[in-house]
Amino acid sequence: MFLKGKTALVTGSTSGIGLGYAKALAGAGANVVINGFGDADVIEAERLALEAASGGRALYCSHDLSKADQIEAMMAEAAAALGGIDILINNAGVQHVAPIEDFPVDKWDLIIALNLTSAFHTSRLAVPHMKARKWGRIIQTASAHSLTASPFKAAYVSAKHGLAGLTKTIALEVATYGITANCISPGYVWTPLVEKQIPDTMKARNMTKEQVMNDVLLERQPTKAFVTVEQVAAMALYLCRDEAAGITGSNISIDGGWTAQ
Ligand code: NAD
Repeated sequence: MFLKGKTALVTGSTSGIGLGYAKALAGAGANVVINGFGDADVIEAERLALEAASGGRALYCSHDLSKADQIEAMMAEAAAALGGIDILINNAGVQHVAPIEDFPVDKWDLIIALNLTSAFHTSRLAVPHMKARKWGRIIQTASAHSLTASPFKAAYVSAKHGLAGLTKTIALEVATYGITANCISPGYVWTPLVEKQIPDTMKARNMTKEQVMNDVLLERQPTKAFVTVEQVAAMALYLCRDEAAGITGSNISIDGGWTAQ
């Protein structure tokens, strides 16, 4: 329970990797703010399970983080309820797969707003509290696509590369305040985000589902295995430990060897 008394906010945590982070942080005793979309009853059950795990508080914020005013409202609500964010995990993200000449402009705008700009807003709003406490952790779920590209993912690759740059910049600015800022960059993790892009990839590449899974997704990962949510969450938990105080401005790959190639 090394995070007892700390408050963590995880964006996009009603599903997939974000929910994995929330469970890991609550398991270590942190109060947790969860956010994202989904079925209200399912989310309430998750919220109660997080409170049971931490013995502390869990708050659900339904705000749409593609919009700056909603992010400001969420950060204010979380601070009022739980007294400021000590651990910020920017994780909310969406994907769209299409050739550049057909890439829908509204999808570009959404992916840049959610996958990149939301992390700027949450970070600028969380840092003052962290500086005052002389302790903080900012963790981004970036991606192997923050380090390398794939065709048909113009917006996602651009947003994730931008997120890596933003993180390094924040790390330098807060380095003397006991605050670290790092990216975790997973390869393919089996979550709804990956499952949902299979039909579009089948269309863009004229492939069957099996071909997309084996020849596109796992083709990039030498381990030939999906990374798990638990493996990613365990790294985030480690970054919250005092032993990780010297890790900042890093982009930590958990990608089954993808970016070693
Ligand atoms: P997911 O679809 O399971 O979860 C995405 C979360 O974001 C959900 O909680 C969803 O409700 C929330 N969300 C979507 N739109 C939102 C909005 N406008 N405002 C607030 N919340 C919103 O996806 P995941 O695979 O768990 O992805 C989480 C993060 O991990 C993303 O940033 C993604 O780019 C990154 N990532 C995923 C993989 C992978 O293989 N799954 C690999 C590398 C990086």
